[in-house]
Amino acid sequence: DPRLLWFRQDLRLADQAAVAAAASAGPVAAVYVLDDKVAGDWAIGGAQRWWLHHSLAALAKALDKHGVPLILRRGDAVAEVAKVAREVGAVEVHALHHYEPWWQAAEEALAEKVFLVLHQGTRLIPPDQVRTGTGGRYRMFTAFWRALRQQMPPEAPRRAPTKIAGVSKPVASDRLADWDLLPTMPDWSKGFDVWTPGEAGAKRRLDRFVDHVEDYDEARNLPSIEGTSRFSPHLHFGELSPAQVWHRLDGKAGAEPFLRELAWRDFTGNVIDILPDYGKRNGRDAYGGFPWRRGQTADRDFAAWTRGRTGYPIVDAGMRQLWATGWMHNRVRMIAASFLIKHLLLDWRRGERWYWDTLVDADYGNNAVNWQWVAGTGIDSNPFGRIMAPLSQSAKFDAGGYIRAWVPELAGLSDGVIHDPHGAGCAPKEYPAPLIGHVEGRARALAANAKMRG
Ligand code: FAD
Repeated sequence: DPRLLWFRQDLRLADQAAVAAAASAGPVAAVYVLDDKVAGDWAIGGAQRWWLHHSLAALAKALDKHGVPLILRRGDAVAEVAKVAREVGAVEVHALHHYEPWWQAAEEALAEKVFLVLHQGTRLIPPDQVRTGTGGRYRMFTAFWRALRQQMPPEAPRRAPTKIAGVSKPVASDRLADWDLLPTMPDWSKGFDVWTPGEAGAKRRLDRFVDHVEDYDEARNLPSIEGTSRFSPHLHFGELSPAQVWHRLDGKAGAEPFLRELAWRDFTGNVIDILPDYGKRNGRDAYGGFPWRRGQTADRDFAAWTRGRTGYPIVDAGMRQLWATGWMHNRVRMIAASFLIKHLLLDWRRGERWYWDTLVDADYGNNAVNWQWVAGTGIDSNPFGRIMAPLSQSAKFDAGGYIRAWVPELAGLSDGVIHDPHGAGCAPKEYPAPLIGHVEGRARALAANAKMRG
């Protein structure tokens, strides 16, 4: 009896429990549905469409080796999966369970129509298995991590099945090229060639990082070097399982700080599982009435931020790296986000939207939790009044190399002045003046916060 495999953000064959279960039970058909509506405001963004194209191509090739075609459909995910299941005569549909609220709803709806078997495998362990002593759910990362750590390691990852038999009945499929996921006019994706989407590319990253994990704790805060793993898009699309990462690195010298960081993914899965609206709703209700700036000058400032023209070199370097490569270093993500929220006094949700569209690793839980963490609106974040100073952050974490790489008009400046060229009176003509001074911006943010608290 045939089984249908439903792929989403789990585009791999190794350590994929749905693949393993379906393949061991009999002949298999595989489907991916591009659903532009299911996620509402979180429909897949521009940068990720590029990634998805290449990742699907890689998965289709890997399945093809087994003689299993990847069936592509566009439309309502639940309806299409149910339809394909009927077409191939599937007795069961196998899939990994996902924590995004729209996927949880889709899984429930699909279970009404077909015999749906959900498997775990997108997190180290299911977040609802990480419980307080009294059985509650955690709202703070540190406590969550302590409880999670005690249940580690996760189950050992399994290899990809050596044999997957396909169903004999041919079924209609879209052509990937017809989905127009790649940018054409203009093609902004040149800088994306630093990435290799797909399971093989993910595995290469993992192999490469094994030798570097030892330096992670020191190197992770320096944006000018490749001190972090760059697993994030691979993890988001499920080309790599968290268990594979854990088992490969656990026990290596210096791995613990890295594993703790990896567990943030599990924490954000936990947050969106208990607070599904977290992408749009402040964790701290009081912030609902915050006096964010609006109107024309606010919009102009927002546009300057997106283009990397704020007059703060570290922020601009980050925003340009994001545009060019679909990724930004974590330290700089924090600085740029904090600058938008506190110095420009713009609603964090505007920044969340921009990151959503431009990051190759855009992830509902990770993005929302981190934005709210920086904003001070979250359930586990510093108070709003803790304001990052972009210039001292810049001097502390970048010797100048990062700024030089991404803001070429400043490349000729010396280490001493590159962080604040206007302040030092040596900014080249083409580099914009700061949108607001640090002292002034800080005072404005604190005043707004005081006003809100009345
Ligand atoms: P590494 O440092 O090598 O970490 C390994 C893995 O652990 C990452 O791939 C990621 O899956 C996980 N991880 C690490 N730090 C975090 C974190 N703070 N929160 C959640 N998971 C983490 N990450 C995303 O994957 N998607 C997003 O949409 C996203 N939006 C962010 C928005 C803001 C404002 C900020 C400050 C951070 C955001 N992050 C997001 C978290 C973090 O910046 C990235 O996960 C990290 O930079 C990815 O690079 P890496 O794989 O080299 O990380």
